[in-house]
Amino acid sequence: MNIDMTGLTVAIDGPSGAGKSTVAKKAAAVAGLVYVDTGALYRTVGLYMLEHGIGDEDEEGIVAALPRVDIRLAFENGVQQVYLCGEAVGDRIRTEDASRYASAVSKLPPVRDFLLDMQRKLAEAGGVVMDGRDIGTVIMPDADVKIFYTATAETRAERRFREQRERGMDVTYEDILASIVARDKQDSERETAPLKPAEDAIVFYNDPYPIDACVCWVLGVLTRAAWEKARKQ
Ligand code: C5P
Repeated sequence: MNIDMTGLTVAIDGPSGAGKSTVAKKAAAVAGLVYVDTGALYRTVGLYMLEHGIGDEDEEGIVAALPRVDIRLAFENGVQQVYLCGEAVGDRIRTEDASRYASAVSKLPPVRDFLLDMQRKLAEAGGVVMDGRDIGTVIMPDADVKIFYTATAETRAERRFREQRERGMDVTYEDILASIVARDKQDSERETAPLKPAEDAIVFYNDPYPIDACVCWVLGVLTRAAWEKARKQ
């Protein structure tokens, strides 16, 4: 492909379990962009609280502990790694408890402020695909491309149910659906940086499409944006 996409800034927002990270990672690799997973940052703050016995409802305790949360982001062979107090967090941020904590800490304005600079610096460097909840609205309001990547709660629950069953986990579809609905509610009803499409975002419901079709669709959007950007310069 001879359209250069490497200077683009791309914001992909959407609810949990919509498959943002999968599509963003694949599209970033083809387009020559760096993929930044901002959810991992909130998960890491949540993990610190979880591992230090601070309750997920203990807002004062969470805010008081923030100065001790030493987060560093590194890109190793192009892959994002998050370090918490010098140690790679790995899959410790992917458990159900860590997800619950991530959602709880992310509604607190001091936590969002705490992570703002790190995300803005990455955005300023350009050449990124960032996924999250408020990338197009707060972190990169001037992004070249804004996509709100979503699917119905039922589709997301069904996909997660199948994935977890395949891994041998003892889960029910109803429980998974309930936790997805609860997280959607918490993410979209919070006062600070609620989950919502930016006014100029393209909203994409991916329910019927296989992942490769979604990646091609995203790459089509990026190609057009890169072409338009080059034409304006
Ligand atoms: O994307 P992921 O599911 O890993 O995000 C974990 C949690 O972090 C979400 O439930 C959401 O509450 C929060 N989050 C956020 N803003 C972002 C990214 C994630 O509030 N930009």
